[in-house]
Amino acid sequence: MFIGAHLSASKGFLAMGKQALAIGANTFQFFTRNPQGGSAKAIDKADADALCDFMKEHNFGKLVAHAPYTLNACASVDKTRDFALMCMKDDLKRMEYIPNNYYNFHPGSHVGQGIEVGINKIAELLNLVMFKEQTTTVLLETMAGKGSEVGSKFEELKEIIDLCNLKDKIGVCLDTCHVNDAGYDIVNDLDGVLTKFDNIIGLDKLKALHINDSKNPLEAHKDRHELIGKGFLGIEAFKRIINHPVLSNLPMELETPNDIDGYREEIKLLRSLKA
Ligand code: FE
Ligand code: FE
Ligand code: ZN
Repeated sequence: MFIGAHLSASKGFLAMGKQALAIGANTFQFFTRNPQGGSAKAIDKADADALCDFMKEHNFGKLVAHAPYTLNACASVDKTRDFALMCMKDDLKRMEYIPNNYYNFHPGSHVGQGIEVGINKIAELLNLVMFKEQTTTVLLETMAGKGSEVGSKFEELKEIIDLCNLKDKIGVCLDTCHVNDAGYDIVNDLDGVLTKFDNIIGLDKLKALHINDSKNPLEAHKDRHELIGKGFLGIEAFKRIINHPVLSNLPMELETPNDIDGYREEIKLLRSLKA
């Protein structure tokens, strides 16, 4: 079982690895740069190498790097979209310092242009930033469907993937809060949801999980994360999720409203649910 949490990247790569280990994690997620977007500090190669060694030594699973959530790959304003392009292109180059991991991003918001325009713009941008030699797999995150978000339906993610040139370097990160809010009933019908995922996208594309409870009921289209077991998903749903044969080997990252001690407790709790 590979379980971790979203950690602060401010002290560098190896510091995150050590912090992960200290809270009982064997994977983690981090922002590639300021979550609001903006410039990233230069990569320290020695620090990146040290993390890679550390992960090998402690049998870590793959990491999930998260793009700034303000990036909008399908923005209507050219300047905004150019910024997304610049950030993602740079991030994917930087990811090669820690090769063979995941780079997750929110597909975007079509802001009134319509879902099909959004889908096309997202794929077009991916085709500009991804490169043949990259070892990183880019993950599209399943979204809650708040506002004009693209990617709250499996069909939309599938359309984006189909339009991409480097399909074998693209996957999906399933966020348990977001899919609940999008209307996929993982509480009462986890198998049904996974079957749907398989029929539409293919389970071979499912690469990582964001493990969050939700402050809102099924199909609320809200995206408000809750502590594990304290929201509308509930502890039994997480027990089924982490033990499901299709999901149990994927890296699972907590993004619950927590400090580091809270994450340690939730990791302990989830490990205790492992059959
Ligand atoms: Fe996210
Ligand atoms: Fe998420
Ligand atoms: Zn969210």
